[in-house]
Amino acid sequence: MLKLQNISKHFDGKTVLDNISFEIGTGEIVSLLGPSGSGKTTLLNIILGLTQMDQGKILFHQSDLTHVPMRKRGFNIVFQDYALFPNLNAYDNIVYGQRNNKESASPQQIQEYIEFLELKPHLQKKIGELSGGQKQRVALARTLVTNPKILLLDEPLSALDGVIKESIKQRIQSIAREFKLTTIIVTHDPEEALTISDKILIINQGKISQFGAPQEIVHQPSNDFVDQFIIKQLHIKRQNIYNLFGEQYA
Ligand code: ADP
Ligand code: MG
Repeated sequence: MLKLQNISKHFDGKTVLDNISFEIGTGEIVSLLGPSGSGKTTLLNIILGLTQMDQGKILFHQSDLTHVPMRKRGFNIVFQDYALFPNLNAYDNIVYGQRNNKESASPQQIQEYIEFLELKPHLQKKIGELSGGQKQRVALARTLVTNPKILLLDEPLSALDGVIKESIKQRIQSIAREFKLTTIIVTHDPEEALTISDKILIINQGKISQFGAPQEIVHQPSNDFVDQFIIKQLHIKRQNIYNLFGEQYA
C-alpha cells in the first residue's frame, strides 16, 4: 500500500500542491485527473522521487520513503514524451534501463513483456521508424523490464487517437491486472480516467477536489468543480456518461 500524507510543494513562492493526502492499495489503478497546470506531473514526480516535496510523508508498505532517493524507491515512470533514445533500436531502448539494476526482469520475463506488448516484429527498428502507438509500447516495455514496484504513467494516451488509444488503454489495464502492479496514471481527460481507473483523484489548483471510484464521482460529485470539469470536458450529455459504465440513466 502507498500512503501519501500532507504533501505540499511550492515553486518560486507559488503553492503547486497543497496538503495532498490519499492511499492506494496494491494492484489498484489510480488516475490523477485535473486541468493543465493543476499539479499532476509534480505529484507524480514527487512519488517517483525525482522532485523533492517541501512538506509531507510518503509511506510504502509501512516503510517511510520520504527521504529515500529515487533509485532506491524502486518505482518507475513512462514520461509524457516517452524520452526514448533515437539512436538506439527498439530492443536496445527496452533493455537500457535494466542495466545496473539488480531487481530487473530475467531474460524470460523480458521476452514475456515483448510478446505481451506485441513488439517482436519491431525490435530492430530505430525509434524514428515507429508509429506513436509502437513508441508508447516500447516506452512501456522499457519501464516494465525494470520490475517497478509501482508503475507511473504521465499522460500515456494523450498523443494517441482512436483505435490505437483504446488498444494502449486496454494493455495498461491488463498489465496492471495480470502483474498485480499498482499503477498511477496522470491524465487531463475525464473519459480516460473514468474508464481506466479503480479510483480517481481529482486535483484542482494543487488541492484534492475529490477522491473516489469512477461511479462515485459521476453519481456524487462532491463540488461544482468536479461536476463542471467532468461534464464540460466530456463534451457529451450527462446521460451518456452512464453509458461509459454500461448503466441505465434513470
Ligand atoms: P500538470 O501536470 O497538472 O499540468 P504541473 O505539475 O506540470 O501541472 O505544474 C503545476 C504548476 O507548477 C504549473 O503552474 C507549473 O508552471 C509549475 N511548475 C512545474 N514544474 C516547475 C518547475 N520545475 N519550476 C517552476 N514551476 C514549475
Ligand atoms: Mg503534466
